[in-house]
Amino acid sequence: MRLHLASGNAHKAAEFSRLAAATGLEVEIVSAQAAGGMPAVCEDTGTFQGNALKKAHALRARLPAGAWVLADDSGLCVDALDGAPGVESAYYAGPQGDAAANLAKLVAELRGVPAGLRRAHFVCVLALVDGKGAEHMFEGRCDGVLRDEPAGGAGFGYDPLFVPDGHGQSFAAMAESAKNGLSHRGRAWAELVRWWRGVPRL
Ligand code: IMP
Repeated sequence: MRLHLASGNAHKAAEFSRLAAATGLEVEIVSAQAAGGMPAVCEDTGTFQGNALKKAHALRARLPAGAWVLADDSGLCVDALDGAPGVESAYYAGPQGDAAANLAKLVAELRGVPAGLRRAHFVCVLALVDGKGAEHMFEGRCDGVLRDEPAGGAGFGYDPLFVPDGHGQSFAAMAESAKNGLSHRGRAWAELVRWWRGVPRL
C-alpha cells in the first residue's frame, strides 16, 4: 500500500519511513518527488489542522484518482510567549525559513525567563486523505522545558533547546529512535497506526 507524503522535505519522507518500519505498518511512504514535486502551499489557515489538510489536498490534486495522501504540520508552542511560535514555527525569524535564525530568535526571546516559566510543547497534526477523499486527523503532543542555550548535535529545528519531561537531555542530544518514541510526531503516528489497525478511538 502506497502512502504519498505531501512534503517537499526529504528528511520527513525518511523519518516517516522509519516510523512505519518501527511500528510494523505495511505502507510504502512515497515522496512527493514521484508526483513531480510538492506544489507550493501557502500555510495561512492559522491552525495545524488546516495547514496539514491544505498540503494533503494540494498533492492529491496531482495524483491519480484513488491515491492515499499523508501530510503533517507541526510546531513548538511556548507558554511564556502565549503559544508562539506555534503554526509559525518554520518562519519565526522571517519568511526565508532559516532554522538557525529561528533557534537564535527563540533563545533571545527567552533570555532572562526563569527556569520555572520555560515550559513548552511540540504539536504534530497528521492529515490522511484516503482513496475516496475522506479526511482522517491524528494529533500528537510532547511537553517539556526549554534550555537557556542549545545543546546536542542531532535532530533539527528547535531540538537543541527542548528537553522533554522525564528526560535530562535535549531532543538534539538523543538518538533518533529515542526521540521518535516520545515525540509529537511519533505520538501522532501511533494514533494513525491505532486507527489503521481498527482500534477504536476514545
Ligand atoms: P512544518 O511542520 O514542516 O510546517 O514545520 C514545522 C516547524 O516546526 C519546523 O520547521 C521546526 O521549526 C519546528 N518543528 C516541528 N517539529 C519539530 C521537531 O521535532 N524538532 C524541532 N523542531 C520542530
